[in-house]
Amino acid sequence: MTLLLIYCAILGLAVGSFSNVIIYRVPRHLSIVRPRSACPNCHHAIAERDNIPVISWVLLHGRCRHCHSPISVRYPLVELSTGILFGLTAWRVGAHLDLVAYLILVAALVSLALIDLEQLLLPRSIVYPTLFAVAGWLLVCAVHYGQWHRLAVAAICAVSWFALFFALNFFSPRSLGFGDVRLSLVLGLALGWLGVGVVFIGFFASNLIGAVVGLSLIAAKKRTRDEPIPYGVYLAAGTIVAILLGPVLLAHWHSWPNAH
Ligand SMILES: [Zn+2]
Repeated sequence: MTLLLIYCAILGLAVGSFSNVIIYRVPRHLSIVRPRSACPNCHHAIAERDNIPVISWVLLHGRCRHCHSPISVRYPLVELSTGILFGLTAWRVGAHLDLVAYLILVAALVSLALIDLEQLLLPRSIVYPTLFAVAGWLLVCAVHYGQWHRLAVAAICAVSWFALFFALNFFSPRSLGFGDVRLSLVLGLALGWLGVGVVFIGFFASNLIGAVVGLSLIAAKKRTRDEPIPYGVYLAAGTIVAILLGPVLLAHWHSWPNAH
């Protein structure tokens, strides 16, 4: 178990490094494979040895090797966060086949949250591949474990959440973008596989985090009431909370006396 956790955390660092590329290039419609990463200031290609997640940034004191211009701390932070989230996800989900689906989802959510934060956009070119990957992998799990009932619950949750957001978007497109509607399919599916209760936890955690952060920003006069909110950021945060804490919260709930 510890080995799996460490392995996933290291994998997360590498995936986070790739997420940095996605976060920068996908909204700008640039290829994510070519050219290789370069310093935004002097355009020197970044060598293999300077591309080690987190470590390179620390060794180079957050500066480009060639022109010494500062490199944003966001890059190592995205790598570190993805590493930590992968480790936590492996710990919570455990050594089961479905862990793969949750690692894919967590990686996608980190990229989507940062793109939404910067651009108020949840690119289809990330959401759809994530949907197909998660759905495909959960299908593999359903076949392997014979858990068709779980897959059916997941599908129903996906369609229900989608229908709710579709209606909200239809009646109030300003308050909920269609990117969030598309994303809800993925979230309903992935959380639904863990149980209906986990879907509710994800949904409420998203809105609670959104309300607390949104009201704090308004109180701190960092944004006005009319500014659009990057709702995808809160959906991503709430979903990750639900993956990590949902099943254990529900287990406690069921073990409380007089809970029913
Ligand atoms: Zn440079």
